[in-house]
Amino acid sequence: MQNEVNRLKREGFSIALVPTMGALHGGHLSLLAEAKKHAHVIILSIYVNPTQFAPGEDFKRYPRNLTKDIKLISPMEINYLFAPRTLYSKNSSTEVQETEVSQGRCGKKRKGHFTGVTTVVSKLFNITQPDVALFGQKDAQQCDVIERMIQDLHYPIRMIRAPIVRDGNGVAMSSRNQYLRPGEYKKAIQFATNLREVASSDLTVQGKVQALKRRLKEIPGLRLEYVERVNKTLCAAVYIGKTRLIDNRFIRPGKKAKKTKKMEKNVKSGESKKK
Ligand code: AMP
Repeated sequence: MQNEVNRLKREGFSIALVPTMGALHGGHLSLLAEAKKHAHVIILSIYVNPTQFAPGEDFKRYPRNLTKDIKLISPMEINYLFAPRTLYSKNSSTEVQETEVSQGRCGKKRKGHFTGVTTVVSKLFNITQPDVALFGQKDAQQCDVIERMIQDLHYPIRMIRAPIVRDGNGVAMSSRNQYLRPGEYKKAIQFATNLREVASSDLTVQGKVQALKRRLKEIPGLRLEYVERVNKTLCAAVYIGKTRLIDNRFIRPGKKAKKTKKMEKNVKSGESKKK
């Protein structure tokens, strides 16, 4: 792959990398479609990276079906599919670790996860030397961590954050949705619906966090892991049975929040007038 990339670079082609773990769906396809707008050559990588799974997580049962994946992307005319058998030698002893953005939320719940991600993405960057790399907002914290890594390690790469693709019921597409039994999928719809409703409600930001926590806790068979506001997004992770799902939505400032801000402003201007 490195030889091939060197040749492409010499010939003046720009390269876009779309890293995935396979079991491709509409979310992945949207990244590939977006990639085409930004570079001459598209490299899709498919690799179920063992180091980003914590012990006891679903590494062994993670869906793998390269034949199906190849069929799915065949109409898209992707230039390269990079699907290595492994990216780690037996005596591999180097890691790439981000130590700030990766600490909360998923990083807190999945020990070592983001170090696995930054290590493998760094390997993929070195192998494919992309000009552009595309990641999905679905994994919002992952985007933040990669952005920081690119900045800290001076990778000459532009990261593009693509919007979340949802199915017809509003559920964020994910390879892990395959695990869901029909009854469980109904709970995934409830998860997505509540997140959408609360994020666009008139509540204040804190009100939204509390309301979503309350609503998700009321859904039987759904175990809440976290709800947090991060910048302008409301982020949540839940377990439905053994399946861990994450999702996030941009927060629309609610009328109540706007009202509170207006009131605060009025009080402040009143105070300054008095002075
Ligand atoms: P994965 O194969 O789950 O590691 O995901 C590979 C890339 O696809 C990551 O950058 C994800 O954020 C992105 N991705 C996964 N699901 C979606 C989705 N529903 N919409 C947009 N991007 C997604």
